[in-house]
Amino acid sequence: MNREKYVFFLDVDGVITDEFARVDTLLLSDLERLQKDGHRFIFVTGRSLNWMENNVFPHLNSPNGFTYVCEYGKVISHAGEISVEGRIPQNVEDRVKKNVGSLFGVFFDQTKKTLVTIEADHAVAKMHPDKVEASLQKAERMLDAVAEGLNMDVIRSTFAVDMVKKGTNKEEAGRKALAYVIPSRKIIVVGDSPRDLDMTKPLRASGIPHEFYFVGKKLGFEPTQPNQFKTEAGYSEGLREVLTAKGLYEDKARRKNKLA
Ligand SMILES: [Mg+2]
Repeated sequence: MNREKYVFFLDVDGVITDEFARVDTLLLSDLERLQKDGHRFIFVTGRSLNWMENNVFPHLNSPNGFTYVCEYGKVISHAGEISVEGRIPQNVEDRVKKNVGSLFGVFFDQTKKTLVTIEADHAVAKMHPDKVEASLQKAERMLDAVAEGLNMDVIRSTFAVDMVKKGTNKEEAGRKALAYVIPSRKIIVVGDSPRDLDMTKPLRASGIPHEFYFVGKKLGFEPTQPNQFKTEAGYSEGLREVLTAKGLYEDKARRKNKLA
């Protein structure tokens, strides 16, 4: 088999997780198998490395075979080597923590090193979506006030609000991830938010061949370029669709038949 080998930039939330925000562990073993076949997977996420260690590592045989570009590129783990750039000052963290306690259904993410994240409790958000949304909006306004004068930005996503150093975003994360690609390989970027498209900016700027896949039915993205696509299915099923389109995915039943 002499198939083309790819490098994948994968967003984490909504891409390797299911609709209940649970990591798709079966998919992870497929990614590991594909990595053995010579493809490379780089996770590019706002999540902390600690979160990856708790939620992804336990489902992999060799977690250090993957590259993790976490906290929008400020915390990177590659081949087990970890680098951290710019920790959040303690007094800023304390100030935010004090204000989060009173908000319904959201919590302060203790695992982040270089950014502040206020996140929804997914179980509570399922039962009281409107109340949790109201809390996230309050959190966003609170962080906006803290960020002012600190040279920081506030980024809102579906289930979280992040406060980051200015210029910290998926574009910067994509630029960081570029250090770990294999030259001359096509890069497949997969995300579930229009902001994930920013990962492709450094690739476009450097003339690196790439494709962008938007997984999911969520509103907010329509392909405008010939190398941009939208999957039918959402969440990790959407990523399966991408892998299938690239000829990399066979479902379990088919694999079993082949072995039999
Ligand atoms: Mg996402």
